Amino acid sequence: MNLWIAKARVGAECTYCHKDIPKSAPCIFGRTWIRKDNEGTDGAGVYWTKTYHWHIQSPDNNCCWIVQGLSVLDTKSSNSHTQHRGRKRLVLPADTRLQRLHLLQKRARLVQVINEQLEIIAANGFVGIIDTRPLNRIIAAGTKMKEMKVQIQQLGGVPKGWQ
Ligand SMILES: [Zn+2]
Repeated sequence: MNLWIAKARVGAECTYCHKDIPKSAPCIFGRTWIRKDNEGTDGAGVYWTKTYHWHIQSPDNNCCWIVQGLSVLDTKSSNSHTQHRGRKRLVLPADTRLQRLHLLQKRARLVQVINEQLEIIAANGFVGIIDTRPLNRIIAAGTKMKEMKVQIQQLGGVPKGWQ
């Protein structure tokens, strides 16, 4: 959803509290696109837009867009919980969780390094590589990643994406 803030050009009804948002009052706008496939003459699908309006401050002093946003977030996280019910949720002490997070971030950087070096190698051509530095960097990153796998095993287990 796109969100923006503007003055209401015409009066509108708040999506959350259903009270009036007067003309020229600051207002949060939201717009979503809904795609309907297999409709329309060219078969490209038809897009419908839906526009929402929220009070920045309602007559009851509510920030309607925040209140509704938070409640949607609540529903979403409980939905995604049911979708991933096969996945074990890790319950770890705070410091272990932090160390684990650190390793995840470090690994993401190493993956980036490897991709960058692969691009350099691809750009130079695989035949007759004279500059061995990119290759060495990849090997070094791979070695570090192997060590990190052992470390993260002790911090709650190896994530699926690391196998
Ligand atoms: Zn409202």
